[in-house]
Amino acid sequence: MLNLIDNPPKWPNGARCAVCIAFDFDAESILHEFFPKDAPRRVALGSTFRFGAKVAVPRILKIFDHFNIKQTMFVPGWCVEQYPDVIKMIIDGGHEIAHHGWLHERVNNFSHNVEREILLRGMDAIEKATGRTPIGYRCPSNAFSENTLNLLLENGFKYDSSLGGHDIPYQITNQKGHKLIELPYDYSSDDWAQYAHFDDVNHLMPIRSPAEAINVFKADFEAAWQHGGYWAAVWHPFLSGRLARASAIVEFIEHMQSKGSVWFATMAEITTHLDGLIEKGEWSPMQDRVPFWKSPVTQITNS
Ligand SMILES: [Zn+2]
Repeated sequence: MLNLIDNPPKWPNGARCAVCIAFDFDAESILHEFFPKDAPRRVALGSTFRFGAKVAVPRILKIFDHFNIKQTMFVPGWCVEQYPDVIKMIIDGGHEIAHHGWLHERVNNFSHNVEREILLRGMDAIEKATGRTPIGYRCPSNAFSENTLNLLLENGFKYDSSLGGHDIPYQITNQKGHKLIELPYDYSSDDWAQYAHFDDVNHLMPIRSPAEAINVFKADFEAAWQHGGYWAAVWHPFLSGRLARASAIVEFIEHMQSKGSVWFATMAEITTHLDGLIEKGEWSPMQDRVPFWKSPVTQITNS
């Protein structure tokens, strides 16, 4: 077979690929982000997002428990404080809670200092709820800024899962050469592209059937399994936790488990494993320095 990954990391116990079914537990944080002035008046949309916290997350935890897998949930600090009982269920299930902003802010709209304040406030909420400092981060709304990496490094983070520079894990480095594991993101693993359809935000894409959506995710998983890679979901409880979609997830995990040689792990566990490989000199990942430019590139114009 022609292997299309030049430098795959070795996975524990000879597994062919690592899988993390990661969820972004956004609940109504998105509503408040989109509609800071009149979110309380948008009751119907609010109920859809609350479904994520109140019904979908417990349903997803039931699925994880059934398959005896521990996974990662990225949770904005505001949601951690808003839903203590659900957060306790996640912790009691042995899953990882990672950082996803305070109120799902688009941090590249903010100054360096405000971005720091958002990061610290989210960390504080997670620390109070879990007794642990989060080590992983996924930037809300793909809005990773030129300051994000340095802020993560300054605050002891071990991995990020927001960027799409490779389809296997790699490292992002800052101007001083300090490194962070990147567990890459891609829209093809994001359920937003498959299921999201919201009048209020003028996001009116056709809704795919669970079978169509799972086929997109499955293609990435099968390739990761074949070539020795990595596959992680970017799913949202309020989207993928709906009944028919959750049912399709059960079938998808059954498929992955029956295929065998799949390492289901939290992103924290995957990061610890990769850092160990690097330390022992057994894997040299691709490195990508961010940000890519100090200022906008001068363009040729008419004026
Ligand atoms: Zn999110």
